[in-house]
Parts: sequence; C-alpha cells; structure tokens
Amino acid sequence: MSQTLRIYNTLAREKQEFRPLDASNVRMYVCGPTVYDYAHIGNARPLIVFDVLYRLLRHHYGADHVTYVRNITDVDDKINARAAERGISIRELTEETNRVFQEDVRALGCLEPTVQPRATEHIAEMISIIERLIASRHAYAADGHVLFDVPSMKDYGRLSRRSLDEMLAGARVDVAPYKRGDMDFVLWKPSKENEPGWDSPWGRGRPGWHIECSAMSWKHLGETFDIHGGGIDLVFPHHENEIAQSRCAFDHDVMANYWMHNGFLQVEGEKMSKSLGNFVTIHELLHTEKFGGRKWPGEVLRLAMLRTHYRQPIDWTVKALEEAETSLRRWAEFIEAGETTGDSGDFFGQFVGALKDDLNTPLAMSFLHSVFDPRLLDDALMLVGIDARSYVQWIERETRRGVDAAAIGALINARLAARAAKDWAESDRIRDELAAMGIALKDNKDGTTTWEVKR
Ligand code: AMP
Ligand code: ZN
Repeated sequence: MSQTLRIYNTLAREKQEFRPLDASNVRMYVCGPTVYDYAHIGNARPLIVFDVLYRLLRHHYGADHVTYVRNITDVDDKINARAAERGISIRELTEETNRVFQEDVRALGCLEPTVQPRATEHIAEMISIIERLIASRHAYAADGHVLFDVPSMKDYGRLSRRSLDEMLAGARVDVAPYKRGDMDFVLWKPSKENEPGWDSPWGRGRPGWHIECSAMSWKHLGETFDIHGGGIDLVFPHHENEIAQSRCAFDHDVMANYWMHNGFLQVEGEKMSKSLGNFVTIHELLHTEKFGGRKWPGEVLRLAMLRTHYRQPIDWTVKALEEAETSLRRWAEFIEAGETTGDSGDFFGQFVGALKDDLNTPLAMSFLHSVFDPRLLDDALMLVGIDARSYVQWIERETRRGVDAAAIGALINARLAARAAKDWAESDRIRDELAAMGIALKDNKDGTTTWEVKR
C-alpha cells in the first residue's frame, strides 16, 4: 500500500507514522463495556471510532491480518449493586445487558471484533499476573487485598504525564489501612459471601477493574501489542494502571506502542454520562421516540458521529442528526439510481488518504459530496461502515410500520369507485389525502392501482 497510516499517539502527544510490530498480524485492544446497564450514545463513540480504524487496518493490511479485541467487563461492583436492586442474578443481568449491547453495536454498523473476551473467563490469567507482580516486588498482599505498589515503578504516570503529587491531588484516593502508599491501587480484593468471588492464593475474592484488561490483552494479543484505545477519560487512572501492571509483570518498556483516545460526546457542553443523568441510550435512539420525537437509524447515528474528528468534542443534537440524514438520504438515492454522472477524479484515493491521516473522517466525508460514481460512493461509505442499502431498508420498514394498509386499501377502493362514476374531483381528493399520508399511487394499465410509501 502506498500511503502510510498516521495516528495521534497519546503516549507521545503527537501524530506518528504507524508501524506495526508484525504487519501480518496487527493487534488492537479497546476497553469494552461494563455490562450493568444499557450503553449510552457517548459509549458508542469509541465503538464507532475504533470500528472505523479496524476497517481501515483491514483495508490496508488485509482482512486476515488484523486482530481486534474488545472486552466485556462482567465482574464489577456496579453489576452486583444493580442485580441486587433489580432482584435478579448477576448472570441474568450481564447476559441481558450484553445481548442488548451486541444488538446496539450491530445496528451502529460495527463489525464484530475478532475476540470479545469476558473478564470472568480470565481470572486465572489475572491471578497469574498478580503473582508475577508480587514476585517482582511491584505488588503486595495485605488483609486479603493485593495492591500495586506505585512508587516501585520509576516512570509511573508517563501516559497521563502527571507527577505523583499531581495525581494525588487530582485523584479521589481511597485511604485504607492496608495501603502502603496513597496511590497504590487494588489488583485483588476479598469478597463477602454474597458477592461473586474466586479462590486465589489470597483467599476468596475478585479482581480490581484495571487488572482485567491487562489479563485479557495478554491472553489474546501477547505481552506487547500495537494499538490500545478507549475514551479520553480512561487515560488516568485506568490506562496508566494497565500499563503499570503489564509492563512490570512482563518487564517491557511498553505495553502497547500506540495509545489512542476519543474525545467526549457532549450535551450542552457537558460530557454525556450516567452520573450526570444527561444521557440517551443507543437503544432508545434506535427504538423509541425519546430523542427528537422519532427513531433514528444506526446509519444516521454513525454518520453524525463521523462528521466530527474523533479527538474533538462532539455536541449531540437533533439538528446534527437531521443534517446527517439529509446527506445520507441524498447519497442513498444516488447509489440506488446507479447512474454515473461525471468524472470523480482520484476521489477514492483522497478519501482513504484522509482516513489514513489520523482518521480525519470529517475531511473524508466532505469528499463524498463531489463523487459522481455511485459504485465509488458506495465503496467509500462501506469502508467507514455505512451501508446505504440497509438505511433504505430501515426507512421502508419504518414507514410501512407507521402505515395502516387496511385504511389505504379502503381509500383506494373508494377512489376506484369514484373513477368508475367519473367523479374526478372525488378521485383527486382521495389521491391528495393519500399523498398527505405519504402514499404514492400508481394506476396500472390493467386497471388496478398499486401504492408505495414515498421517501
Ligand atoms: P464506561 O462505561 O464509562 O467505562 O465507558 C465505556 C467507554 O465509553 C469508555 O471507552 C469511555 O471512555 C467511553 N465514554 C464514556 N462516556 C463517553 C462520552 N460522553 N463521550 C465519549 N466517550 C465516552
Ligand atoms: Zn481497559
């Protein structure tokens, strides 16, 4: 491939040429959902951004030469609390939430990652990493807990570029008698009888959050790999602590060579989040009228997301969704018509070139307005995961659903009767009434009338 891929590396705070450790197996890990509740549209941002990167890597290196791992966190105190609140088992809660999550990401046009490991299936790997950390004196056990000894790592904080003092001032640090240092974080903690737990050398307990990702990335991608991604809020402490665990356990200078972080999806200038209560779930956007009084197809949600560069904040508004839909509708009609209307020059090269420049999707999408070959337009949209045909099908499905076919049939029959009686005024009135309902009539040569839903 000619053009090189460049990505902004949080570790270096600059755009760098991407050089994989092994071009025949490019490896990427992205932190996935904690399955205690439906994902909101802010959570969809990393899913879509890293899906675009996954597709671009497959395009560049070949579909069989990229391994994409996105985990499912199915052990967490939020899960325990929610299951108790709803009076269902932890298993029921995580299964149900994961099922909806998988439906959501599919509707957003995301490819299935190569592996979606579950935390609860990697307890042995977690224990093994923790044992290594204890053996190399980067961790210590106390009171059924195991903690990572932060001062034991000389360049802790390299990703977030904060000094220990700054981190201490900025972080909400739990004070606990078993901790040697204020910044030390939990690798393992004891479980009460009613809490999920696994036997370990430190008693029955459960893992801390950060160790899960170190274990799952190790198992599926190895001790070091190429790209690690997530939202910008994960830089500290989550990713900083993943790095500390993995580097110290395996004695490497890096865990992943490139760290990528998406900016926040915002509502009126504030981060969308569960805790602020200003969220709308992906499920609600797709299946209910909660946002802007209507349902939105996944293709429109995705396009709206890609019209902003992934590192910039994005404001989630009805107007932005409507604008995205207007463009998508025009493109879908052009693809359906199937007619080449002019010379597209090096459109596809420019499109891919923009993506290869640190996923410059807004620039790439702007080129879509000056392509005159429906096949090229379709290919370009598919490269970023937007299937124009499935958008058209969505519209047809939804419009049909909102339409009372029986009532339409009755009106059509009344119109046929009016025409037979040569009552043209009544016939036209009925046609107009149907048009107002979004129904277009077609009078066939054989005297029958068929109808279709207008787009
Ligand atoms: P959480 O469930 O909070 O761990 O978030 C799951 C993923 O969504 C992480 O990669 C977060 O960084 C990301 N995320 C959460 N809220 C937002 C937001 N408002 N905008 C963009 N990304 C977000
Ligand atoms: Zn993680």
